[in-house]
Order: sequence, then C-alpha cells, then structure tokens
Amino acid sequence: MDRFTVEVISQTPNPQQTIYAAMHQDYAEGFVWEERDRFPDETKCGEVIVKQLLAGNRGHYGPLEHPQIVLNCGWFPHSTMQQIRTHRVGISFDVQSFRYTGQRVVDVVEGKREVEEVFYLRPLGFYSDRQGKKYEYNLEQRQQDIEWCLEACRRYQRRILEGFSEEHARGLIPFDVRQHWVMSANVRSLMHLVDLRWKADAQLEAQKLCEHLWKPFQAWVPEIADWYESNRLKKARLAP
Ligand SMILES: Cc1cc2nc3c(=O)[nH]c(=O)nc-3n(C[C@H](O)[C@H](O)[C@H](O)COP(=O)(O)OP(=O)(O)OC[C@H]3O[C@@H](n4cnc5c(N)ncnc54)[C@H](O)[C@@H]3O)c2cc1C
Repeated sequence: MDRFTVEVISQTPNPQQTIYAAMHQDYAEGFVWEERDRFPDETKCGEVIVKQLLAGNRGHYGPLEHPQIVLNCGWFPHSTMQQIRTHRVGISFDVQSFRYTGQRVVDVVEGKREVEEVFYLRPLGFYSDRQGKKYEYNLEQRQQDIEWCLEACRRYQRRILEGFSEEHARGLIPFDVRQHWVMSANVRSLMHLVDLRWKADAQLEAQKLCEHLWKPFQAWVPEIADWYESNRLKKARLAP
C-alpha cells in the first residue's frame, strides 16, 4: 500500500546470542563473557530464549531489552508518526520538525513534486467511522482533497515569501503531511509496539507500519518472531 517504506540503518549483529548471554548471566556463577566462544549459534540461542523466557508467558522479558535495531521509516502520514511516538519506553525517535525547512511544500507549488509525494490521502474505497458507520471515499472527493492540499501549499509559499518563519507557516499545511523518521528499539519494545499497533482497532496506517516493521524484525530475530507470530501477533494480548 502506498509509498510506505521501512529500512534498517543498523542492528545488533548477533541479537539472539546477546539475549542468551544476558539470560545466562542471570543464573551463571561465572563471568559469561569468558564463555562467549562456546555460546550456541544464533538459531539455537533463539530456541533456548523461546523455551526459557517466552513460552508459557513467564514474563521474563528483561534479557530481550539488550539488542537494538535502528530503522528508517519513510512516507508515513504525520498522524502515524504521532501515534508511534507515544511509545517512549525503550524506543527513541528523530523526525523532521518543519521548524527549519519546508521546501518540499514549496516544491509542490513549483511543480517539482507531486501533491501525493508530500501529503498522504487514503486510497479510494470503503471505510467505517468509529461507530461502525460505513462510507465511501470516492474519486471526486479525493480529487477535491488533492486540490485542497495544493491550495494549502500555495498559501504556505505565499507566507514564506512574505517573511514568515517555517515554524509559523507549518501551521497552514494539511495534517497528514508525510514524514520520515529514524527509530531505534530493542526486541522487547518493538514487540510491545506491535502488540498495540497491529491489532484490529489500531489506525489502518499504523497497522501498515507494523507490517513493514515486521519484515526486518523477522530477519533479525527469526526464532523470537516465529514465537511471537504464533502466540501474540494480532491477538491483542497486551502487556500491562
Ligand atoms: C488504539 C489506540 C488508540 C489510542 N488513542 C490515543 C489518543 O486518542 N490520544 C492519546 O494521547 N493517546 C492515544 N493512544 C496512546 C496510548 O494512550 C499510549 O500512550 C500508547 O499506546 C503508548 O503505549 P504504552 O503506554 O504501552 O507506552 P510505551 O512507551 O510503549 O511503554 C511500554 C510500557 O511501559 C510501561 N510504562 C510506560 N510509561 C509508563 C508510565 N509513565 N507509568 C507507568 N508505566 C509506564 C507500561 O507498562 C507500558 O505499557 C492510543 C493507543 C492505541 C493503541
């Protein structure tokens, strides 16, 4: 759907061994670093983590907080960014504030960018409101909304030319301007975010973000992701 993108900037290279080491230190008499050459391989560590920490909802999540993944999320609407930023434990964000520049808004007026490269509008189709009432977003309405965004870009440009600061003029642009952000999370905090934002009543675009977050997560910690898929994914089993 849409232009939504998530790419990995960096990640702990041996995440499941890292979690294993932390778990092992919980009960080992010795200094676990000295055993690092004898740690089981990534897959085996993943299996041990599932068995010892995750299975049966033991709630022993601490060791999962050590490995970090740093992701670049792109072209999501401002509203999705706002929602994702409410998750503040174990997650850190950097996002453009529009205080310093808003050149891409001006680019729309100058014909250098499409309206939809800068603003997000939902695809045509049928939707329902929070009370379950259905409605259609049709072609004519969507075209009118594109015009509305274009008009707002023109107003933004005019105010900038009149000498406004970017932080003042940004108040004129439509709410769902697209944003890119860098987000770092650990294995536990990412799963917690997915608990809350991939469930059926989360906003559509937040669910799409989770779909995109899931691919790098799965490639990074496959055994843990596999356990999560079978036990928690989309089941709204929320952490306290
Ligand atoms: C479907 C949905 C709709 C929402 N609608 C709105 C809305 O309309 N407006 C709005 O403002 N927010 C809204 N939220 C955000 C919501 O209220 C939470 O702020 C958000 O989901 C962050 O989750 P979290 O508390 O689990 O935080 P995280 O930062 O992900 O924290 C992880 C966990 O740490 C613990 N924790 C974190 N901070 C504290 C603390 N201060 N005290 C005690 N324990 C803490 C909790 O156990 C928490 O679950 C919505 C969330 C969802 C999922």
